[in-house]
Amino acid sequence: TPRVRFAPSPTGALHLGGLRTALFNYLFARQSGGRWLLRIEDTDRSRLVEGSQESLLRVLALCGLTPDESPSAPGDCGPYVQSERLSLYAAACEQLIRDGHAYRDFQPEAATLAEKEAERKTKKKTPRPNRDAIVPDEEEAQRLIAEGRPFVVRFRVPRKPTTIQDMVYGSITMPKSHADDPVLVKSDGWPTYHLANVVDDHAMRITHVLRGEEWLPSLPLHLALYEALRCPPPAFAHLPLLMNKDGSKLSKRSGGHVNAQDYLAEGYEPEALLNFVALMGCNWHGREGDNEVMSLSEMVDGFSIANVSHARAKLHLDKLRFLNRQHMARKLERGGEAAAELLSRARQALAGRWPEAKELMTQSRVEQIVRAVMGRPDTVNEIADTASFLFEAPDWSTSEAAKLRGDPETYTPVLHTALDLVEVASEAQARDELWLTTALEDFALRLEAANGWQAGQGKQRVMRQIRHALTARSRGPSIGTVLVLMGPALARERLHAALD
Ligand code: GLU
Repeated sequence: TPRVRFAPSPTGALHLGGLRTALFNYLFARQSGGRWLLRIEDTDRSRLVEGSQESLLRVLALCGLTPDESPSAPGDCGPYVQSERLSLYAAACEQLIRDGHAYRDFQPEAATLAEKEAERKTKKKTPRPNRDAIVPDEEEAQRLIAEGRPFVVRFRVPRKPTTIQDMVYGSITMPKSHADDPVLVKSDGWPTYHLANVVDDHAMRITHVLRGEEWLPSLPLHLALYEALRCPPPAFAHLPLLMNKDGSKLSKRSGGHVNAQDYLAEGYEPEALLNFVALMGCNWHGREGDNEVMSLSEMVDGFSIANVSHARAKLHLDKLRFLNRQHMARKLERGGEAAAELLSRARQALAGRWPEAKELMTQSRVEQIVRAVMGRPDTVNEIADTASFLFEAPDWSTSEAAKLRGDPETYTPVLHTALDLVEVASEAQARDELWLTTALEDFALRLEAANGWQAGQGKQRVMRQIRHALTARSRGPSIGTVLVLMGPALARERLHAALD
């Protein structure tokens, strides 16, 4: 059975690219009946960020991406945290030295900060001495170790071009490397990513490695390591980088966040975020229904690594907002737990913004508001913006309001008509939006005819003037919806205030 893994380093928050890597691994496993492992790669001790492992796991859990094997749900090849697997790397390192594939290098590198700084300033890297000149024989090496001399272990990387096969990029021939022999074990004794990653992928019986494009250049090194360790390598699929809309490296500059958790904190649905990253660099057409709005299980059905493209994918935040509106609406429609959870977050957003109105925010009131405005706000948090007219008195002093107000001659009669309708509606308990809208439209038509206005003008004028009185804002739900949500008391109050 296929075995894949997600191998994040706890060096910071999970960015969108990392979330996509996790998702594609999950999809690949679910679709092939394989297993998905989570391994924490924490050997770069200087880059560890406190709490980042927990936050990473939290985001995955929120998104419903639960690994089959992980530190908290170990399978038969644990531990699942690299810092607990050091003996494996030490053994591999010894084997490599013994077989002549790696050597201890006691020559101090530009080790001090001052030296590094000097190198950076002059842009001249002190060339490493020829590797064959710096490899002491074993006896000498043991003597230096006993002396306490620091060393690194380097891989005697084969100096030849390598042709790699990648499931996304196809076959690529990479030129021979001129770089220094890569370090496998640092002078602090910790293995580098390259050694630990290769050792673990083998030990954990990984069959397919799906990871970010940024690791493609390391593939010749990894393949050489597998060979030197006499292990068959897994298959590789590198996933194209995510870019800003202008083609630059993904950054805050694109106007959006880089980290998944920041989107969730802003009120985006985890389903929408997953859907969004799934569309980046992957072609989903030809699926049944051919719809780009997909749930996780729909993605499992439609996923194919053959449809991952190596073209770099750009971040289109409009698409994310569109997907989020769709996923919110889907949840609400579906009802049940997902809808209840959405409504409870909507309630939090509303009560957070207007704590004084908390009492009024009953379950059914929140549901009424959310259903009425659904389709307008991009996120659950933005429901508070869309519904703010219910909690904040209109500000008639703005230029936006002035434009809405329109013809002073019709303003008063229009508002009086609205007041009459509100009375009739409340008496008849016909608080239904359709009734109110139809009644208002009838009135507008009559006004239109009486004044000889162009067709459609009456409706536009009437609605704008009532909107002026009720909300003083040019955007918002239809007037029928506004009236229903306000209820007769508040509507009456606002209309009277506007007439004063
Ligand atoms: N720890 C590496 C990272 O954080 C994993 C790369 C890989 O999947 O091989 O990107």
